[in-house]
Formats: sequence, C-alpha cells, structure tokens
Amino acid sequence: MKAETYMERGEQALLHTYNRTPIVFERGEGVYLYDVDGKKYLDFAAGIAVVGLGYGNPEFEEALKNQVEKLTHTSNLYYNVPAIEAAEKLKKVSGMERVFFTNSGTEAIEGAIKTARKYAMKKDGMKDHEIIAMEHSFHGRSMGALSVTGNPHYQEDFKPLLSGIRFAEYNSLESVKALVNEKTCAVLLEPIQGEGGIYPADGAFLQGLRALCDEKDILLIFDEIQCGMGRSGSMFACQKYGVKPDVMAVAKALGNGLPIGAFLTSEKAAVLVPGDHGSTYGGNPLVCAGASAVLDLFENENVLDNVNRVGAYLWEKLEGLKSKYPVIKDHRGAGLIQGLEFTKAPGDIAAAVVKKGVILITAEHNVLRFVPPLVIKEEHVDEMLRALEEVLSEQG
Ligand SMILES: *Cc1c(COP(=O)(O)O)cnc(C)c1O
Repeated sequence: MKAETYMERGEQALLHTYNRTPIVFERGEGVYLYDVDGKKYLDFAAGIAVVGLGYGNPEFEEALKNQVEKLTHTSNLYYNVPAIEAAEKLKKVSGMERVFFTNSGTEAIEGAIKTARKYAMKKDGMKDHEIIAMEHSFHGRSMGALSVTGNPHYQEDFKPLLSGIRFAEYNSLESVKALVNEKTCAVLLEPIQGEGGIYPADGAFLQGLRALCDEKDILLIFDEIQCGMGRSGSMFACQKYGVKPDVMAVAKALGNGLPIGAFLTSEKAAVLVPGDHGSTYGGNPLVCAGASAVLDLFENENVLDNVNRVGAYLWEKLEGLKSKYPVIKDHRGAGLIQGLEFTKAPGDIAAAVVKKGVILITAEHNVLRFVPPLVIKEEHVDEMLRALEEVLSEQG
C-alpha cells in the first residue's frame, strides 16, 4: 500500500487545514480516477465542480502542450493572444462586456467587491458603502470574500472582517429591501447556492433584485463560480432566469482544473482603471489557452445538451431514492448540480460510497452533493446509484 506512506508524509509536510479522505489520487481517465495503488473510482465530485470535461480530454491537453512549448507567462504589462481569445469567448457566452482574469474564484469575488465599492464611490464620493450578501452563501476564504460569506463558523476566528457587509435571507426580496439604504453599493449572491446546500434561487427573487438594483443604481453581482459554466444546464445559471447581472464571478469549470477565474462586468460597471487592480499571474497564456480550449469544447462537444439530458436522468433517479428512503428529506438543484438533503449528516453515507469506489461529497451539514464531470453519461449515473443504494439499504 503506497497510499499509507504518502499520507503520513503529507501529514508531516502540509498544513492541516483539511480532514482529508484517505485516498492519494494518481491519474484520471474520462470520468474515472485511479489512486496510487491502482484502485479505480467513478468521480461524482469533479474536484468540487471543476473538471467539467473530465480527465484526459485530448483537445484540452493538446492546447496546453502547445502553449507550454510556446510561452507560459508574460505578466499583464503586455498583451497575450490566449488571454484575448479566452476573453472574447467568455464575453460571447456570458453576454457580459469586460473580463478580468484571476487565479481563483476567491480572487474573482475580490475584484467584484472592489468594482462595487469603486462604482459607488465614483457616484457619490462617499467611502462607507455597504454590500448586501446572503445567509448560507459561500464566496471564498480571503478576507474580503470571507467577509461576504454568510457562514459565521468560517468567519469567527478571523475578525475584524470588512465593514459594511449585511446579510439578507436568500430568496426573500423583502429581506433584501429591508437592508437597502443610501450606502448600499451592491447585492451579491449565487444564483444556485453551492456550498450552502444546493439552494436554487426563485426566478421572481432574481428578477425582483434586478429591478431593485436598477431602481437604486446598485450593482447586481452574481457568483457563478460553482453553478456557472454549464453546470445548471445553461451556460450560466442566471441565463435560465433571464436575469443579467452587472458583475459576474466565474471560476471552477472554466479551467477544467487549471487555476483560473474571472470577473466579468457590463460596460456600465467597468469602472476599474489602471492602478486600481492587478495580478501578476492572472490571465497568463498557459491558463488562458486552457480556458479557451474549454470554451471551444463546450460548443463542439455539445456539453450543455449532455448536462440537460443526463441531469434530467439523474433528477428522476434521485426522486426515486427520495420516495423510497425516509432519511432523504429534500431534493434540489438543476442540471448536474443536485443535492439530496438528509434528516442527519450524510458524511458516513458519502464515506461508505467512496469505499465502494464512487467519489461523492457533501455540502453544508445535511446534503449529499452531486457535481460530476459535465460529460458524464447515464450509465455512470446508474453505476453511482448502485453504490449509493447499497449503502442506503445497509444503513437504512
Ligand atoms: C468554490 C467557490 C468559491 C471560491 O473559489 P476558489 O477557486 O476556491 O477560490 C467562491 N464562490 C463559490 C460559489 C464557490 O463555489
């Protein structure tokens, strides 16, 4: 067993910020992962909703190999072709107008927060603007992104956080309206809350927020980091509802595993100017060549059609489980971002399923989360369900 030795070494060398599942992965192929001892796993987590195209996509790998041989980094003091191409493609699929590339989702949120503060400061010259975020949201772990994350447990040990952040109840337009005042510069939310337990927004809530933000000249910011890039069955979840934000944060599946994110703005919200913001690596040629290939592959391989078809199949099967097992309380989501809420924490269930060779993760305390590669097929859903049902019938 090679894994044991690696895990021991890992625990000696890495900061212990995760209680890791005792698996050491070595390689991936399609929608399967293999550990260092050769054990095969069906991947129903995709590295937390990241590896949309699965492992070993030949066009994606070819694009990266070509770019590695050409140029990997230049800094943003110059132009580079892959960044320009990736930005053009992102504009096209999102309907947004300006792109700033980051190295992560968290950094995309930081850029969105700065955009909101700057937009309002330009408008009224004041420096005490407030952002309304949502309870049970997740936006990242840096001090800014943590400040807008509606989870006191993540925040508690790191205070003081950013000032001027208020939390509204998700899907309650009234609770947002109650917090709006002359200082409010933005409303920030995930169109489908991911880490918080797979809660989709109501269409009327998003449309109401759009109207509210227009009326008050406040920026509407959507965090599409987890629910975007095709996962909901639309390229971006907000497109399902026909609501366009002023700023959108993207990451996760954008790079299919490469560290890249972006915040996208409308022309109106494109307020950051030279000196306001920057990144040494952000949008470097290597990661942008990858993202550019991802965006091409989404189109060429009809990824959205697959998400809608297999997502509907998964939906029907999970509905079946829900009606059969009383421990399953609720079933939520869209496309290939679905969750089953249990009456008790399903950590043990997930762990038992993993032992059977299917990678499943949880969200919040009570939710089993299904965020597989977007190229998964019906037969893989069946394979996952066989393992899950065995565990459910064993554990009752
Ligand atoms: C994962 C996630 C983030 C943070 O992204 P990182 O790439 O981990 O920095 C922010 N918002 C949402 C909705 C996420 O799912």
